[in-house]
Amino acid sequence: MVVERRKPIQIAEAVNRVLDHPMESPSEEIHIERSLNRILAEDIVADHDVPPFDRSPYDGFALRAEDTQAASSSSPVLLEVIEEIGAGQVAQSELAEGQAIRIMTGAAIPSGATAVSMFEVVKEFHQGDRNMIEVGRTFKAGQNIARQGEDTEKGTVLIEKGTKITPGVTALLATFGYRYVNVVQKPRIGIFATGTELLDIEDPLEPGKIRNSNAYMIAAQIRNIGGEPVYLGTLADDFNSCFEAVSSALSDIDALVTTGGVSVGDYDYLPAIYEKLGATTLFNKVAMRPGSVTTVAELNGKLLFGLSGNPSACFVGGELFVRLFIRSSAGSKPFLAKTKARLATDFPKPNPFTRLVRSKVSYTQEGILVTPTGLDKSSSVTSIAEADAFTMLPGGTRGYMAGDEVDILLFHSESDVNPWSD
Ligand code: AMP
Ligand code: MG
Repeated sequence: MVVERRKPIQIAEAVNRVLDHPMESPSEEIHIERSLNRILAEDIVADHDVPPFDRSPYDGFALRAEDTQAASSSSPVLLEVIEEIGAGQVAQSELAEGQAIRIMTGAAIPSGATAVSMFEVVKEFHQGDRNMIEVGRTFKAGQNIARQGEDTEKGTVLIEKGTKITPGVTALLATFGYRYVNVVQKPRIGIFATGTELLDIEDPLEPGKIRNSNAYMIAAQIRNIGGEPVYLGTLADDFNSCFEAVSSALSDIDALVTTGGVSVGDYDYLPAIYEKLGATTLFNKVAMRPGSVTTVAELNGKLLFGLSGNPSACFVGGELFVRLFIRSSAGSKPFLAKTKARLATDFPKPNPFTRLVRSKVSYTQEGILVTPTGLDKSSSVTSIAEADAFTMLPGGTRGYMAGDEVDILLFHSESDVNPWSD
């Protein structure tokens, strides 16, 4: 077998090539209580004003502002309290001159009333069997009234499709009566872990074997990003059985992630499998560390993500490329957010390729600090667990020193801004 020479492309270019293959995700209707973190497939439009009627923002008394024009602390006006309403109740009577209605927060302003006085600024007393209040100040018409439509007006597009449903969006769904909401279907992403050395979780260790961590990690990443992982099992390094498994899996999924077998080793069969399937390779080498062998191919509109078997490299491939596919198919924030931080420790190792160093972010009074976590090798599994960001170290001839300003990609913050194009 001739070792093929692969030409590395920049991460920015690899990102663009994946973005060039979006999937049209159909929508599905789901119950509001199951909609958290799903992506809206429809705009949320206010179909009524909020609030839908003028209401009281306080517990107090609804009154006619004009009745208070002559009031002062030395010469208060007296009003008769003719009714009491709580939230959800509507006053029976219309306010006439000299009258007030005791009103609670959220209750509709009675007709005739033009202002609300809080409890604290009036004095209550009885005059015979009449309930009275003494008002020692003036009110302006409209004072302390929460106006119909002040929060939003009927017809306003409040949330656009493509937005992730947060608790705040959920409040709007409920406000506008969406028991069911249209969301983007989660792309179903198949996962094969390849490698004759792989044991499953419950298997005891044996000489030369390791447990398959990648399949579970990448399934968790896919779920986190908003896809539906479909774990298809492990495959031994055997061309024919791998080919059969991959080609028969494709009909039932929207994309396939494999880990391992994309390098140039004797048993790395994925490139040959892609070729035999007739898939088009988008790239098979990226100028990045870890994960330079990351390969993405396309077959009949489906993307095949060939991620490295090295756990840290596999993780990077998931966050960078599988994320793009899942989120751009939903039309929503496909990138990790980029910001600046200072290196907390030296990173003296130079590298010609851009490094994505698994790192821990700390937010300090002096700004954001970033510290590489654990062993900086693509084979490391322990360095991933504590990381919440990638430190992006551009390739070059120099290393980096503590205090240097660097770009970082935050795992828990999504963005519409492509961090690779500037
Ligand atoms: P490969 O990409 O197949 O050359 O594998 C690179 C390295 O990653 C080897 O040391 C493998 O044993 C290891 N590896 C491959 N697949 C997995 C997996 N699913 N979980 C953990 N390590 C793996
Ligand atoms: Mg392998």
